Amino acid sequence: MIVLMQVGAGRDAVAAVVARVEAAGCTAHETRDEGRAVLSVLGRGAAELREPLAALTGVERVVDVAPPWKLASREWRGTSTVVDVGGVAIGGERGAGGPLVIAGPCAVESWEQLESTARAVKAAGARLLRGGAFKPRTSPYAFRGLGAEGLRMLRAAGDACGLPVVTEILSPADIDLFVQHADALQVGARNMQNFPLLDEVGRVDKPVVLKRGLAATIEELLLAAEYVLARGNSRVILCERGIRTFETATRNTPDLAAIPLVKELSHLPILFDPSHSSGRRSLVAPLSRAAVAAGADGLLIEVHVRPEAALCDGPQALLPADFAALMHDLRAIDSALRR
Ligand code: PEP
Ligand code: MN
Repeated sequence: MIVLMQVGAGRDAVAAVVARVEAAGCTAHETRDEGRAVLSVLGRGAAELREPLAALTGVERVVDVAPPWKLASREWRGTSTVVDVGGVAIGGERGAGGPLVIAGPCAVESWEQLESTARAVKAAGARLLRGGAFKPRTSPYAFRGLGAEGLRMLRAAGDACGLPVVTEILSPADIDLFVQHADALQVGARNMQNFPLLDEVGRVDKPVVLKRGLAATIEELLLAAEYVLARGNSRVILCERGIRTFETATRNTPDLAAIPLVKELSHLPILFDPSHSSGRRSLVAPLSRAAVAAGADGLLIEVHVRPEAALCDGPQALLPADFAALMHDLRAIDSALRR
């Protein structure tokens, strides 16, 4: 059950709701939504609290929400959530600004590589810059990123070309560093169910890009988002990045159905990552076009100025010129859909 407080309801009113819930042996998890408190009320007997809670001062509405992802559910929030990342809005209706694209290299490798890629993606119309400084690699011997130095470079490159930055956090211990340097914290596929990390990013005031796990169901993705929301951070952006199936011709199997399905089930924005979904440069453009047509709220695309020399994920990186051509197509698809 979800209790929506009125905009402007004070802390006393919220505390009174929580006290009533706890007196009944239930629990309340609070998040904020457009300036109001929203409480997820759980426990045996929660249903009987419907009327008493609706009568309390400051309560606007009490809504029964069937799915286990309560705060993430579309059932209580008719409209889609718009998440602000460093001044860029993600989610909601198709905007006049065209398709929202986050682009950049898989990993921050050097200032030259990052800055030239950042300038190229900005010129082509990307709205945010991506780049991993702490890389989760399958092999411990692979390039694992430049660490804190890479994070500082990413910030500097974003500032230099006027793009907010998104980067992956691997450990709860690094949270302060990431809060200082990043505009959005990415929780990668391998960490989608790292519950201490979800708790930690749920506690801070930064948007979170939560990627679907390698073998996670959509239900598991939404419940991972619920962890972040239940800690009080309402700025969650989901990302479909392909799942593992029996098919090995592509790195992962892109699940395009997840885009419209997540939008049916949840009010949270959903991005699509054609790069990790397919692992192949030649498939990035067709999948990107399909994802925009399927209603994705944005794309996360890997671009590299010299993919053949990339330290990570070169085979799936677009060259800047191919990225620019793709952006042109995406704008055309997006405006056709807005008509
Ligand atoms: C990434 O986006 O850099 C990444 C590692 O992706 P994923 O977590 O989806 O594998
Ligand atoms: Mn990558």
